[in-house]
Amino acid sequence: MTRCLDCGAERSADQCSACGLTSAAAEVLLRRRLMLRTAWFLVGAVLFLPASQLFPPLELDAILIFIGVMFFLVLGLGVWVERRARHHLEVEALKRVYFGFVPVPWLLAALLFANGKFDTAPPTRQVTRVVGKFSMPGVLRSNRLVVTSWREGQRFERVPVDRNDYDRFQPGDSVLVQVQHGLAGIPWIYGVYRQ
Ligand SMILES: [Zn+2]
Repeated sequence: MTRCLDCGAERSADQCSACGLTSAAAEVLLRRRLMLRTAWFLVGAVLFLPASQLFPPLELDAILIFIGVMFFLVLGLGVWVERRARHHLEVEALKRVYFGFVPVPWLLAALLFANGKFDTAPPTRQVTRVVGKFSMPGVLRSNRLVVTSWREGQRFERVPVDRNDYDRFQPGDSVLVQVQHGLAGIPWIYGVYRQ
Protein backbone atom coordinates (compact mmCIF):
# COMPACT_ATOMS: atom_id res chain seq x y z
CA MET A 1 0.00 0.00 0.00
CA THR A 2 1.29 3.46 -0.81
CA ARG A 3 0.01 6.77 0.38
CA CYS A 4 -0.02 10.09 -1.35
CA LEU A 5 2.98 12.11 -0.10
CA ASP A 6 0.95 15.28 -0.09
CA CYS A 7 -2.44 14.49 1.42
CA GLY A 8 -1.77 11.06 2.91
CA ALA A 9 -4.69 9.34 1.19
CA GLU A 10 -4.25 5.77 0.04
CA ARG A 11 -3.30 5.68 -3.56
CA SER A 12 -3.72 2.81 -6.04
CA ALA A 13 -2.75 4.63 -9.24
CA ASP A 14 0.04 7.14 -9.85
CA GLN A 15 -2.46 9.95 -9.59
CA CYS A 16 -3.98 10.46 -6.15
CA SER A 17 -7.77 10.19 -6.25
CA ALA A 18 -8.14 12.52 -3.26
CA CYS A 19 -6.03 15.52 -4.26
CA GLY A 20 -5.36 14.77 -7.93
CA LEU A 21 -1.57 15.03 -7.70
CA THR A 22 0.76 12.61 -9.40
CA SER A 23 3.36 10.98 -7.17
CA ALA A 24 6.10 13.23 -8.61
CA ALA A 25 4.08 16.41 -7.97
CA ALA A 26 3.20 15.25 -4.46
CA GLU A 27 6.87 14.67 -3.73
CA VAL A 28 7.78 18.20 -4.83
CA LEU A 29 5.03 19.63 -2.62
CA LEU A 30 6.10 17.52 0.33
CA ARG A 31 9.69 18.68 -0.03
CA ARG A 32 8.56 22.32 -0.13
CA ARG A 33 6.43 21.81 2.99
CA LEU A 34 9.28 20.09 4.79
CA MET A 35 11.58 23.00 4.02
CA LEU A 36 9.06 25.60 5.19
CA ARG A 37 8.32 23.80 8.43
CA THR A 38 12.01 23.21 9.04
CA ALA A 39 12.62 26.93 8.59
CA TRP A 40 9.90 27.64 11.18
CA PHE A 41 11.49 25.19 13.55
CA LEU A 42 14.95 26.75 13.12
CA VAL A 43 13.65 30.29 13.63
CA GLY A 44 11.82 29.15 16.76
CA ALA A 45 14.92 27.48 18.14
CA VAL A 46 17.05 30.56 17.46
CA LEU A 47 14.49 32.91 19.03
CA PHE A 48 14.20 30.65 22.03
CA LEU A 49 17.68 31.63 23.20
CA PRO A 50 17.06 35.37 23.74
CA ALA A 51 13.49 34.68 24.88
CA SER A 52 14.72 32.34 27.61
CA GLN A 53 16.88 35.13 29.04
CA LEU A 54 14.06 37.62 29.61
CA PHE A 55 12.85 35.77 32.70
CA PRO A 56 15.69 33.29 33.07
CA PRO A 57 14.62 30.04 34.71
CA LEU A 58 16.72 28.75 37.57
CA GLU A 59 17.16 25.51 35.63
CA LEU A 60 18.13 27.31 32.44
CA ASP A 61 21.10 25.04 31.72
CA ALA A 62 19.01 21.86 31.98
CA ILE A 63 16.37 23.45 29.72
CA LEU A 64 19.01 24.46 27.17
CA ILE A 65 20.42 20.92 27.11
CA PHE A 66 16.92 19.56 26.59
CA ILE A 67 16.33 22.02 23.74
CA GLY A 68 19.70 21.17 22.19
CA VAL A 69 19.06 17.42 22.23
CA MET A 70 15.55 17.92 20.87
CA PHE A 71 16.89 20.23 18.16
CA PHE A 72 19.18 17.56 16.71
CA LEU A 73 16.67 14.73 17.10
CA VAL A 74 13.97 16.69 15.29
CA LEU A 75 16.29 17.80 12.49
CA GLY A 76 17.44 14.18 12.14
CA LEU A 77 13.80 13.13 11.88
CA GLY A 78 13.25 15.74 9.16
CA VAL A 79 16.18 14.40 7.17
CA TRP A 80 14.84 10.88 7.59
CA VAL A 81 11.38 11.87 6.29
CA GLU A 82 12.95 13.56 3.29
CA ARG A 83 15.12 10.54 2.53
CA ARG A 84 12.21 8.11 2.78
CA ALA A 85 10.10 10.31 0.51
CA ARG A 86 12.87 10.33 -2.05
CA HIS A 87 12.89 6.52 -2.02
CA HIS A 88 9.07 6.45 -2.25
CA LEU A 89 8.66 4.82 1.15
CA GLU A 90 5.81 5.35 3.59
CA VAL A 91 6.22 8.73 5.41
CA GLU A 92 2.77 9.57 6.69
CA ALA A 93 3.28 8.73 10.39
CA LEU A 94 6.81 10.14 10.56
CA LYS A 95 5.70 13.28 8.78
CA ARG A 96 2.99 13.87 11.37
CA VAL A 97 5.42 13.39 14.23
CA TYR A 98 7.88 15.77 12.58
CA PHE A 99 5.29 18.46 11.93
CA GLY A 100 4.10 18.04 15.51
CA PHE A 101 7.54 19.00 16.82
CA VAL A 102 7.86 22.14 14.68
CA PRO A 103 5.99 24.48 17.08
CA VAL A 104 7.68 23.12 20.22
CA PRO A 105 10.47 25.76 20.46
CA TRP A 106 7.85 28.50 19.95
CA LEU A 107 5.61 27.01 22.62
CA LEU A 108 8.48 26.63 25.08
CA ALA A 109 9.58 30.22 24.47
CA ALA A 110 5.98 31.40 25.01
CA LEU A 111 5.71 29.27 28.15
CA LEU A 112 8.88 30.75 29.68
CA PHE A 113 7.78 34.26 28.74
CA ALA A 114 4.31 33.84 30.27
CA ASN A 115 5.84 32.12 33.29
CA GLY A 116 7.77 35.28 34.13
CA LYS A 117 5.60 38.02 32.64
CA PHE A 118 2.36 37.10 34.38
CA ASP A 119 3.93 35.90 37.62
CA THR A 120 2.24 37.61 40.56
CA ALA A 121 3.40 35.34 43.38
CA PRO A 122 5.56 37.02 46.04
CA PRO A 123 9.27 36.46 45.53
CA THR A 124 11.54 34.57 47.86
CA ARG A 125 14.98 35.87 48.75
CA GLN A 126 17.72 33.37 49.31
CA VAL A 127 20.92 34.20 51.14
CA THR A 128 23.77 32.33 49.57
CA ARG A 129 27.42 32.56 48.67
CA VAL A 130 29.11 32.79 45.30
CA VAL A 131 31.53 29.90 44.85
CA GLY A 132 32.36 30.35 41.19
CA LYS A 133 31.26 31.85 37.93
CA PHE A 134 31.49 31.13 34.27
CA SER A 135 30.66 32.79 31.02
CA MET A 136 29.76 31.03 27.80
CA PRO A 137 30.99 32.92 24.78
CA GLY A 138 29.04 33.04 21.56
CA VAL A 139 26.61 35.25 19.74
CA LEU A 140 24.52 35.29 22.85
CA ARG A 141 26.88 35.69 25.76
CA SER A 142 25.56 33.78 28.70
CA ASN A 143 26.76 34.33 32.26
CA ARG A 144 26.30 32.24 35.38
CA LEU A 145 27.10 32.74 39.03
CA VAL A 146 27.62 29.43 40.76
CA VAL A 147 26.25 29.69 44.29
CA THR A 148 25.64 27.21 47.07
CA SER A 149 22.14 25.83 46.78
CA TRP A 150 19.24 26.57 49.10
CA ARG A 151 17.34 23.58 47.80
CA GLU A 152 17.44 20.21 49.41
CA GLY A 153 19.44 17.54 47.60
CA GLN A 154 21.20 20.13 45.47
CA ARG A 155 24.74 21.38 46.13
CA PHE A 156 25.00 24.28 43.71
CA GLU A 157 22.82 26.54 41.61
CA ARG A 158 23.93 28.04 38.34
CA VAL A 159 22.20 31.39 38.48
CA PRO A 160 21.80 33.18 35.14
CA VAL A 161 22.87 36.82 35.48
CA ASP A 162 23.50 39.75 33.17
CA ARG A 163 26.96 41.00 32.30
CA ASN A 164 26.83 43.69 34.96
CA ASP A 165 26.10 41.32 37.83
CA TYR A 166 28.57 38.86 36.45
CA ASP A 167 31.37 41.41 36.73
CA ARG A 168 30.14 42.80 40.05
CA PHE A 169 30.23 39.60 42.09
CA GLN A 170 33.26 37.52 42.92
CA PRO A 171 33.64 34.08 44.47
CA GLY A 172 33.32 34.42 48.23
CA ASP A 173 30.72 37.19 48.07
CA SER A 174 27.60 36.77 50.13
CA VAL A 175 24.57 37.54 47.95
CA LEU A 176 20.80 37.68 47.95
CA VAL A 177 19.16 35.83 45.09
CA GLN A 178 15.60 36.86 44.38
CA VAL A 179 13.71 33.87 43.06
CA GLN A 180 10.22 34.12 41.61
CA HIS A 181 7.81 31.24 41.80
CA GLY A 182 6.71 31.42 38.18
CA LEU A 183 3.17 31.33 36.80
CA ALA A 184 3.71 27.82 35.45
CA GLY A 185 5.69 26.78 38.50
CA ILE A 186 9.05 27.17 36.78
CA PRO A 187 11.21 29.13 39.23
CA TRP A 188 13.07 32.02 37.63
CA ILE A 189 15.68 34.52 38.72
CA TYR A 190 14.60 38.12 39.21
CA GLY A 191 17.98 39.39 40.29
CA VAL A 192 21.04 39.03 42.45
CA TYR A 193 21.87 41.63 45.08
CA ARG A 194 24.65 42.37 47.48
CA GLN A 195 23.64 41.43 50.96
ZN1 LIG B 1 -3.18 13.13 -2.47
